Amino acid sequence: MTNRPFKTGESRDQASLLPPRIEDYVGPDNPVRAIESFVCALGLAKLGFRHAERSAEAMGQPPYDPADLLKLYLYGYINQVRSSRRLEREACRNLELIWLLRNLKPGYRTIANFRKENWKALKAVNHSFVLLARELGLVGGTLVAIDGALFHGDASKASIFTRRKLAEQIANLDKEIEAYGKSLEDNDATEAGQPTDGPDGDGAGHGSDLEARVNELMAKRSRAQADLEGLDTSEKRQLSLTDPDARLLSKGDQTIAGYNVQSVVDDKHKLIVASEVVNSSDAGHLHAMAKAAKEVLQAKSLQVLADAGYYNSTDLKACEDDGIEAYLPPSEGNGVLEKQGRFSLKNFSYDATADAYHCPAGELLRPTKGRFTNTSGRVEIRYLGRKAICGACPLRARCLAPKAAYRSICRWEHEDVIERHRARMQSAGADELMRRRSAIVEHPFGTIKCRAGYRHFLLRGFNKVRGEWSLMALCYNFTRVLNILGFEGFVAAVAKAITSRKCLPAAVMDVLQRALQPFWMQIVPRLSVRLP
Ligand code: SF4
Repeated sequence: MTNRPFKTGESRDQASLLPPRIEDYVGPDNPVRAIESFVCALGLAKLGFRHAERSAEAMGQPPYDPADLLKLYLYGYINQVRSSRRLEREACRNLELIWLLRNLKPGYRTIANFRKENWKALKAVNHSFVLLARELGLVGGTLVAIDGALFHGDASKASIFTRRKLAEQIANLDKEIEAYGKSLEDNDATEAGQPTDGPDGDGAGHGSDLEARVNELMAKRSRAQADLEGLDTSEKRQLSLTDPDARLLSKGDQTIAGYNVQSVVDDKHKLIVASEVVNSSDAGHLHAMAKAAKEVLQAKSLQVLADAGYYNSTDLKACEDDGIEAYLPPSEGNGVLEKQGRFSLKNFSYDATADAYHCPAGELLRPTKGRFTNTSGRVEIRYLGRKAICGACPLRARCLAPKAAYRSICRWEHEDVIERHRARMQSAGADELMRRRSAIVEHPFGTIKCRAGYRHFLLRGFNKVRGEWSLMALCYNFTRVLNILGFEGFVAAVAKAITSRKCLPAAVMDVLQRALQPFWMQIVPRLSVRLP
């Protein structure tokens, strides 16, 4: 029995509810202290943050320390708060942020400008964290998976035009202008048959409305025509009016106006080790992404898993040259010959010793002299059957084009790369690797898109979007490492990593020690790692 019907809160007249010290607002093992420890350990000037090297003697109002704003963003993105106005509000009322920022309350413009101006530095922080994960042994460095995910940009589909869309718009405008022109003529004819207006009439009315509308449509048509001519003279295939770098991108049955985020994920703990924001399809990004991952992992050799969208013979060659073993479904071509019931390249086998192809009838196709460059820029060699043999061949109906007298086959000068790739994909273990691909690479995208709810970018333009993606990727990796190591392990590992570098300024060590003092007092006696 109680003498009250409901639970009751504290009286609003109570003098103080919060602990007297800001330090006591958060517990000794609150994850916000992990953010503090990580940011304190970064050399922000070296990473390129604006104002990071400002001296105390500099004139004018002191700006916010980039370390504080970085902590704010890290905290925000980890906790699904990323708009500058919401971050401004949270900095005033959220006790963890009040602790993290020591009650600093930056305005939303300052917060927004920090993210826009420091996109390169944010990329560098993301890279630094991957290096830290590598130092901590959290990446395997032997097997990675690559994939792309579409993210909406800050632009609508209607704001992006292709040549076809512009041509259709011009055609529709022409029809509208023609219809309005006809209305104008009809209107003129009607007015000509009527008595002139009295002293109160303006003599215009409906006719002038139509004329204004026609002028408006003509102006719209001129703009569309200029846009179309601009596309024709540039290398661009789409024109985006709101966000100049966003594009209409399709994957499966999904089409979005935005960007394609390329990620390379390490197999060991599903950490993103390399990433890039592009505005094209996955094709053509295999080698660049794999190479970036290999460099950051400092791996001598690397196995890379990707889906069929990445298949590109030139990329395969570049990967092989750089010691990267790529596993992705081989291209089956466009299947035109199979659909016609004719033999395709698959039915011919290459004999490297004889430098000739064996055809299904057992005859040889020999190389011609010289090489030629095909429409996609590949240098190829042509192999030809003999007219007399093909003409008398019982299989010629299934082999030759209707008017051809003999069969010809083109072989890329580096076709051996493709043959090795095919053999690799048929080797034992390749199927198992391909099954692991989606489990590895979908983990970060699933977490970022579904759990954090980040499906679109807030900023416009490649640079700013890349900065924002760096924050998303950093927060994914940060949270993942924190979950893997636990708070104690994370802070101890950061301390171990930075002390092993022996290059941390004394001032930073001081801040770090003060920030983590409660933690160290309780936890350090149980750990083997100690701050100097
Ligand atoms: S047509 Fe010529 S290339 Fe084709 S199967 Fe017959 S012999 Fe071989």
